Amino acid sequence: MAVIREAVRVTRKPLVAGNWKMHGSRDFVAAHLQALEAPLSELAIDIAVFPPAVYLDLAARQLAGLPVAIGAQDLSLEEDSGAFTGEVSGAMLKDVGCSLVLVGHSERRTIYGESNETVAKKFVAACSAGLTPVLCVGETLEQREAGETQQVVSAQLQAVAAVAGLDRLTASIIAYEPVWAIGTGKTATPDQAQEVHQGIRHWLGAEGAKTRILYGGSVKAANARELFSRPDIDGGLIGGAALVPEEFSAICRLADQQ
Ligand code: PEP
Repeated sequence: MAVIREAVRVTRKPLVAGNWKMHGSRDFVAAHLQALEAPLSELAIDIAVFPPAVYLDLAARQLAGLPVAIGAQDLSLEEDSGAFTGEVSGAMLKDVGCSLVLVGHSERRTIYGESNETVAKKFVAACSAGLTPVLCVGETLEQREAGETQQVVSAQLQAVAAVAGLDRLTASIIAYEPVWAIGTGKTATPDQAQEVHQGIRHWLGAEGAKTRILYGGSVKAANARELFSRPDIDGGLIGGAALVPEEFSAICRLADQQ
């Protein structure tokens, strides 16, 4: 069992990613990243932070030389540049040092009305810019209670696979984030999360064995160990707890200990 776990760990290195959402300031970026420097530099897992777009350049400069990747929270589905007021392209994100980008976070889907089709276009735009998309999928409480979780998640995956191709989907990172668990303090139980992660991997087919699938939704140091111990959970996408350096580094340490 330990040998299998070790082999899986090599192909699917754990990743802990902090989504700062619309939080922070120049001072916050400086202080927060400085506080993370020492605790995170000794860990063997992959770590990433997703600051607001205006602070990406600052964060990338501060993290230069450290094993922490930078990701953006969203990108334009349009081309590299052009008359698209207010938009930020994948090429621009790449230019300031991003290697990752969130696509289809539930707040983009619910507050800003991003459909599965829009999310799929953004996914393709990310790949075209040389960024690795972190595709967020997940069901609402009503959908879970109606027994539609797997169906909803499959439709979200299918919309992307139809436009981007299954190869690009399996080469990306997927974050299962039940909408009812995001920012609510309610976490999916490890069994609930494992069941959906396993369903996603099954949906992806043979190549899905290599795809990293993160869990997100009120993860904190107090519940991370149990979640990360499940075989199909390869790390976490962390919101609120990523704003507290001690909490974020504790979650990273727990992922590293698996
Ligand atoms: C998120 O925003 O992706 C998230 C998981 O938030 P929280 O951890 O606060 O639920």
